[in-house]
Formats: sequence, C-alpha cells, structure tokens
Amino acid sequence: MSEKKIEVIRNKIISIENYPKDGIVFRDILPILNDYTAMSYVLDVFEEHYKQITFTKIVGTEARGFLFGVPLAQRLNIGFVPARKKGKLPPPVISETYNLEYGTDTIEIQADALNSNDNVLIIDDLLATGGTVNATYNLIKALGANVEHAGFLINLPALGGEFLLNKNNLQTFNIFN
Ligand code: AMP
Repeated sequence: MSEKKIEVIRNKIISIENYPKDGIVFRDILPILNDYTAMSYVLDVFEEHYKQITFTKIVGTEARGFLFGVPLAQRLNIGFVPARKKGKLPPPVISETYNLEYGTDTIEIQADALNSNDNVLIIDDLLATGGTVNATYNLIKALGANVEHAGFLINLPALGGEFLLNKNNLQTFNIFN
C-alpha cells in the first residue's frame, strides 16, 4: 500500500464540526471526486487490497458507497448492486431497519440482485457505528450470497463499527482512520 497515495487521499478530506448535528464531526469525502488523481488512488488502494480475492459483486450503500463501489466494480471486472434507502428501488425488495450515528434508517436490496452463487464485497465511504453495513450484510445473507469482506475509505474505530462487523465474521479494511 502506497503511503504517498494515502496522503494524497487524506489531504482531500475535510472535517466539519457539529454537522449535521452538534457533537458530530462530519468527514466530507466529496473533494476526492473532484480530483482525478485522488480518486484514481482510492481505486488503486482498494484494487491492490482486494484483487487476490474472487468476488462476483460489489454491494455499495447509498449514497457515497455508490461513488466508490461502481468504479471499483469496473476495476475488478464484476457487477455492482446498490443497497438503497427505503422506497427507492422497484419491487421485489428485502428491507432491514438499523441505527445510524445520527438517527435510524431502513435499507433495501432488490431480491433478485444476488443469489447463492455470489461472493460479495461491501463498499462504503465511512464506517461509524457499523449499523448501515451490518444491515446490508444481513440483507446479502438473506438472499443466500456469501459475504466476508467490507471496505471503507475511513474507519472511526471509537464508534465500534469495526468491532460489530468483525463479530459477524466480516473482515474490514479501511484506507485510514
Ligand atoms: P454507520 O452506519 O454508523 O457506520 O454510518 C455509516 C454511514 O453514515 C456511512 O454511509 C457514512 O456515509 C455516514 N456517516 C456516519 N458518520 C459520518 C461522519 N462522521 N461523517 C460522514 N459520514 C458519516
């Protein structure tokens, strides 16, 4: 893993205090998308980490998981499946409600998007409490697919997400904390 690439990516991320609520430090990853080199480096680091494993699909969580999940799926020559907020996907869907760092939400996957032949990599921008990816993991398992890996740009370990996911035998990888 290239430290130089990671520094370029890190320097693009902006921390905004007390947004969207008091006490939250919001990590804005969107400047990465505005910079061709930084975005390429994100994909390089993920590709380097995951290229030895044979996945059949990436599942990305709404919305920022889409931004990295789709181009990474192209790099790994596999398909992409969105896990979306309630009511955004046409039926049939399966749903799960979960807790966020701020509030609760319901996430859905199309019921025919995955099956028991799939080995899934979950991608999201940031791991906080792990609620989003834990719910996504449960949906993937409910469709009979295999899922053992979840990748993030950022992990906030103090919020316990890594511990929660590892307890479910989901191996986590993050580019930095
Ligand atoms: P969680 O389910 O608690 O792990 O929260 C992860 C999801 O919420 C990710 O999809 C993030 O995009 C978003 N999120 C949570 N906390 C933050 C934060 N401090 N800064 C930016 N995004 C966050």
